Amino acid sequence: MRIKSQIILSMVAASALIGLVGGVAIFTQMAAIRSLGLTEAANVARELANTVVFKSSDGAPSLLDRPDALREFLEHQHHDSRRDFLVVDRNKILLAHASDEDHTIGDKFDHDPGNEVGKTLEDGVPRRFNDPHEINDLLVVPIEHPEDTIIGAVLLEYDPLLGDAERRTSNMLWLIGLSAAAAMLVAAGFAAALLRRFGAGLSDLTKGMEALAKGNATTRVIHNRKDEFGQLAHGFNTMAAELESARAHIEDIVDTAAEGIAVLDGDGRIASVNPAAVSMIGRRADKIVGQEWRSVMTMRDPRGGEFAAGTSPVELALTSGRQHQSEVRLTKLDGSHLPVIASCSPLSKSDGGLVLTLNDISELRRAEGVVNERADQLAVLNRELHEKSETTTRLVKLGELLQACVTFPEAFSVVGTAMAEFLGGLSGTVHLTSASRNLVEEVAHWGSVRSSATQFAPEDCWALRRGQEHVAGPGMLSPRCAHITENGGKGYVCMPLAAQGETLGILHLCEPNAADKPQWLSERQQILRGVVDTLALALANLRLRETLRQQSIRDPNTGLFNRRYLEETSSRELRRMERSAQPLVIMMLDVDHFKQFNDTFGHEAGDLVLKQVAATLIEHARDSDVVSRYGGEEFALVMPGCSLEEGAERAEALRQAIRQLHLAHRGRTLGTVTVSFGIAAYPEHGAGWAELTNAADHALYEAKGEGRDRVVIARSSAPGERQIQLVTAPKK
Ligand code: GH3
Ligand code: MG
Ligand code: MG
Repeated sequence: MRIKSQIILSMVAASALIGLVGGVAIFTQMAAIRSLGLTEAANVARELANTVVFKSSDGAPSLLDRPDALREFLEHQHHDSRRDFLVVDRNKILLAHASDEDHTIGDKFDHDPGNEVGKTLEDGVPRRFNDPHEINDLLVVPIEHPEDTIIGAVLLEYDPLLGDAERRTSNMLWLIGLSAAAAMLVAAGFAAALLRRFGAGLSDLTKGMEALAKGNATTRVIHNRKDEFGQLAHGFNTMAAELESARAHIEDIVDTAAEGIAVLDGDGRIASVNPAAVSMIGRRADKIVGQEWRSVMTMRDPRGGEFAAGTSPVELALTSGRQHQSEVRLTKLDGSHLPVIASCSPLSKSDGGLVLTLNDISELRRAEGVVNERADQLAVLNRELHEKSETTTRLVKLGELLQACVTFPEAFSVVGTAMAEFLGGLSGTVHLTSASRNLVEEVAHWGSVRSSATQFAPEDCWALRRGQEHVAGPGMLSPRCAHITENGGKGYVCMPLAAQGETLGILHLCEPNAADKPQWLSERQQILRGVVDTLALALANLRLRETLRQQSIRDPNTGLFNRRYLEETSSRELRRMERSAQPLVIMMLDVDHFKQFNDTFGHEAGDLVLKQVAATLIEHARDSDVVSRYGGEEFALVMPGCSLEEGAERAEALRQAIRQLHLAHRGRTLGTVTVSFGIAAYPEHGAGWAELTNAADHALYEAKGEGRDRVVIARSSAPGERQIQLVTAPKK
């Protein structure tokens, strides 16, 4: 119920209550007056009844017995109390009266329409009744004398005062009724005036509230009044201002939020969107708001697949009324994709709807992409490193194996077995340039394919010519080397084996299916380089080692073995002969008067003599013989398997051969060179190296002593025999 109606109703109710209370009070008052009047009248009537039957003690008759006296008494009472009095006997016959009306004494009283007087005469109960002739109320009281014997009744007009009082009260009742009505009118008027006054304030406040409820936080109530409405309006305005500020703050947050925010109603229509959402959806805001969400937003699963019906987060949230969140892919009008986290939080309003929050995670995905890419690169690097480390390990192993090789054949054997494994099963060769540098020879081969000649001239290989790697094969413009034995179907590479500034040869590798495997070389390039470097270095080392070894066992001037080598080898040979029960001859020889050559022709000429003598010794030696320069102009020959006699013959032949040398130095003839020989043999002259050399040395000494240019056999070690035996001597 509206306040206006309530106020009016309250005022009318108050007025009615006042009227009712007044009426009840007046009725109560009237009842009390009536009761009082009746009681008083009854008392007066009884007293009168008692008085008219009273007999004094002196025996005088009562007033009832004296009609004149009774009439006089009643007149007197009537005069005093201004009431009518009547006295009737037991039969309602009028005995006396004092009233303004006309009654006849001796007549039967008949002004009681209900025979009230007769009934009181019967039962003695006072009654009140209305005399229709005189229009007033009468009270009838019995006269009892003696006690309980009704002999008549007194009738008394009891209500002149009471009637007045009742009339006045009745008038007052009217007055009160009218007053109450007037009060109600005044109250209604007053209420109307009040309402007119408050109504404006209430109406303003009500309108303000309604506007606020519709979301218009800028609404204000004019509040220039000083009363409570003014205070209420002020309170309302403060509240609206705070609401407006809070809303502006929230709108500011929503507008500037990086997350896209869209509010959907229960039917899935977009009620509002913030700028971030507009940008993510890729349409104008006015084309989005009011539309069904599916018609303006293309939402797919993270991989771009369609959501099954009812399984997108928006649909799930709309149907279940619970929060749903998942990653989705938004596709804009221009076809570009945006990965977002879509969170759908249902609104608590009864008509449904939800807040859709879109969180752009493209940066995150991009970063993830970069991280994955890096991880892939790392994995590739790791694999390469692993392969490299494996390659390095293999190369180190190859290097170690090659370093352990003492001779070239050992090294070539290692290369032959290791390469097939190293170079992924490809066939190949190692070719080395000969010492004369005019021939390149195959020293190692591996695999099933042969693509190069085993021997060729250095100029037949482009790698050797240019000193750099040479590749040729199907679809390549580079020329094919002349040493290649097939006509172009296969791919090959020749890599120079170069170390310490010297090209030792080539490593040749062949890929029969090069046309199908264009990467065959590039994927092995690294390991190939490592192999080539390791191999070249190892071969160069071997060559150097060989040179050093040669230097350590040979005399550089004559090319013969040196004394150290002779001693090492001869001891070994001696033991070998011992084991095989074969003889061995040791021959010591010394150029005669060599000092004179030096003195006469110079040291260089002396060297030439030594070289020629050495060459003659080599010429006459067998493969098994060890020819050495023993020191200065002395030489020693060890002849395993040679008997003493045979040795003496060969010494003699040598002596003569040297004697026949015709030597010239710088155009000058050097003259005849003669040599003295001392010979000892195993087992004749001893079993030990020292013993034998000693014997031979002594024989040489004897040869010198006996005139030089001769062969002397050592003395026999057997006692009593001739110690020195001259084999030959120059003809005199
Ligand atoms: P004999 O017949 O007694 O052996 O007389 P000889 O002159 O040959 O012997 P001697 O021991 O007196 O002299 C040897 C000389 O050989 C001394 C040394 O200068 C010379 N000689 C040693 N080695 C070489 C060398 O390598 N080249 C040259 N040119 N001379 C050498
Ligand atoms: Mg000498
Ligand atoms: Mg000499």
